[in-house]
Amino acid sequence: MSGLGLVLLKRLLLSLRLNLRKLILYSTILSVSGLFVVSLFILNYVIKDQLIQNSLSVNEKYAEKIAVSANQHFSDMLKELEYSAKQLEQDINNPELTYAEVKRLKYQSDNFNSILLVDPQQQMLAYAPKSLALSFQQTYSTPGIIESLQQKKTYISSTYWSVKGNLVILMSQPIYHQQQYLGMISGTIYLQQKNVINDMLSTQYDYKNSHLYVLDQDDRIIFHPDENRIGEKIINNSGLAYIRQHQKGSIQLTNSLGVDNLAGFAHIPSVNWIVISQQPTDALLAQAHTLLFKVSVGIFIFYLFIFLLVWWISNFISSPLNRLAKMASMLNQHDIQDKIKKVDPWYFEVLKFRTSLLLSSENFRNRITELKQHVNTDPLTGLYNRRGMEVFLKELVNTQTTFAALAIDIDFFKKINDQYGHDQGDVVLKTLAQIMQTNFREHDICCRSGGEEFLVLMTTADPLVAHKAAERLRLTMQDNQINQMGQITISIGIAFWPKDAVDVAAVLKIADNKLYEAKHSGRNCIRSTVKSSA
Ligand code: GH3
Ligand code: MG
Ligand code: MG
Repeated sequence: MSGLGLVLLKRLLLSLRLNLRKLILYSTILSVSGLFVVSLFILNYVIKDQLIQNSLSVNEKYAEKIAVSANQHFSDMLKELEYSAKQLEQDINNPELTYAEVKRLKYQSDNFNSILLVDPQQQMLAYAPKSLALSFQQTYSTPGIIESLQQKKTYISSTYWSVKGNLVILMSQPIYHQQQYLGMISGTIYLQQKNVINDMLSTQYDYKNSHLYVLDQDDRIIFHPDENRIGEKIINNSGLAYIRQHQKGSIQLTNSLGVDNLAGFAHIPSVNWIVISQQPTDALLAQAHTLLFKVSVGIFIFYLFIFLLVWWISNFISSPLNRLAKMASMLNQHDIQDKIKKVDPWYFEVLKFRTSLLLSSENFRNRITELKQHVNTDPLTGLYNRRGMEVFLKELVNTQTTFAALAIDIDFFKKINDQYGHDQGDVVLKTLAQIMQTNFREHDICCRSGGEEFLVLMTTADPLVAHKAAERLRLTMQDNQINQMGQITISIGIAFWPKDAVDVAAVLKIADNKLYEAKHSGRNCIRSTVKSSA
């Protein structure tokens, strides 16, 4: 496929918004229906071919069987005539004897419709039945009589019209006496009346328009189920040349009426006729269509079952991937890890995907926590900022944890900034933050509430403990030397929740007021709402 074709195909596939399940469904539909169509084609070919072969073979066997028994019968008829010829050679001019003989031949069997005894001058010596009313004075020049007398041997005529207007075939045996030719004894068969041939061949056998007919040596029809066609000469039959060349066999041919037929044939050697048994191909194949329909329904049900099975299996395979793919876009959900763990990793790809997704969600969660921390932390000192402080305040109130609020402010910080520069001021802020973190215990919360002001939430109900910790911080700061900036001190105001006010904001305000008090009391000191005995 060309590059452009590939691009177009990809575009098309994208526009279909395929997922694994749809992809499997479409490819299953495509392959199963393709298989179904191919099966129908093959089946159609196989069934038709098999039916045609069967029909050809059945017709051949049938024609052969008929030919064998007809051959036997016709040679018996010729023998009958031969026997009579022997009888007649003794006394051919005795009218009583000859009449007795022709009468016997006519009536002892139904083989012949009439019997004629003719001398070499074409004069009738005797005949039966009497109803023919032929003349003994007259010569008869029908093709049968002339040819038989000319050949002077066993003779079978082609079809011709007799003097009495019958379409006939004549069989004759010569009569010789001491090498002298005395004439011939013949039997005729009236093809359009009840006769030996239709007695023998008329049959009820009519399976799917099958029929049997007989041709003489000149390709004229001497037997046919359609009596109107008897005597007709066959032309334009595509199989006739082949049939003439072979003793027996089968062939698919187009008959003189232009109908395609499946024919079996066999020769009758004693009379040199041909028996043809044939069946119109269309009539036979109509049967194939019914058969094909029935088999197709069976195959269709089978393929439907296969399709449903493949569809079910494909769902089974794609379902875990599908669920994981959906979860991939929901990694921010708090219970996403539990959901991912519920997907059964029963094959390798799902296991890989599930593990990666779990790792990703873990990573995602860590990143979120990290981000949250950034939001709640003051970048300069690493202490909680006002936001972080508020989170903790809410938590303390929710859990009803009593606490002391320590508001801390650096004394004369403005001067430090002015004297040593803003950077040095920052160093002071950082140093104080470090001291705070070592001064207070782990579960006390140190915040930078703004500028050079700090707040510590001490989870204690004891004012003395709070005061001691504040004092410790004040002293450490006072004794600490930072970059030769001289003594730097802090002032601290302390209030308690819920002792000083039920409202947290009010408590912070009180702590601020106490800090203000400390500033006014000369700085580097602590003021609390509770008088400290220390
Ligand atoms: P007081 O003893 O009354 O508290 O005197 P003070 O000079 O400390 O007065 P005030 O509290 O009003 O001064 C606050 C100063 O802190 C003003 C500002 O320049 C400085 N400051 C605020 N935030 C920062 C900061 O992030 N870094 C530095 N270096 N200085 C800051
Ligand atoms: Mg201040
Ligand atoms: Mg200050």
